[in-house]
Amino acid sequence: MLPKATDFVHELVAPRLHPGDSALDATAGNGHDTLFLARQVGPEGQVHAFDIQATAIESTRRRLQAHEASSQVHLHQSDHQHLARHLPPEARFQVILFNLGYLPGGPKTLTTRPSTPLRALEQAGERLEKKGLLLVTCYPGHPGGQEESQAVEAHLSEQPSLRVAKYSFLNLPNDPPFVLLAESR
Ligand code: SAM
Repeated sequence: MLPKATDFVHELVAPRLHPGDSALDATAGNGHDTLFLARQVGPEGQVHAFDIQATAIESTRRRLQAHEASSQVHLHQSDHQHLARHLPPEARFQVILFNLGYLPGGPKTLTTRPSTPLRALEQAGERLEKKGLLLVTCYPGHPGGQEESQAVEAHLSEQPSLRVAKYSFLNLPNDPPFVLLAESR
């Protein structure tokens, strides 16, 4: 069966992210993606994970602790549009993930908005290693999600430094999530 968007991201990243590598999670949420990245890079690697909500950062912290994967992760409770302020100046990443939308189980009003991921994507793009992968999971079915998804897709498509593709279901109902895949040239 074709994988759903979030599984597709992990399947694509797994063979390209190795022990000792560095990764960035711009939307930590409940920590599923952060834990996946932390396991891939191992204790000798580095993961920086951001979320604007304290509850998300706490949930991610608990998940990492439960799986003994905290030592390689730096958690930042911050809007990802300010990520450059929090990252070490020399930090570069093999993989960068954005999983837009709202925190599962959290308030649906607190969702990503078009302007902030665009600012964050600009800063993140500058930190992507050559041949690195930047993946954005978009949720066009959420309120405001269509506008946000289109803005992100247009923004990435215009970046000359990136090769950009899309993983999208063409004949499923209710505007299912899709993934934008960008590879640094
Ligand atoms: N990757 C997560 C996981 O594996 O559990 C799921 C992420 S959830 C779909 C989206 C997250 O983005 C929410 O936790 C929300 O708080 C966060 N978010 C929304 N706007 C944000 C912003 N401007 N900066 C950082 N995080 C933001």
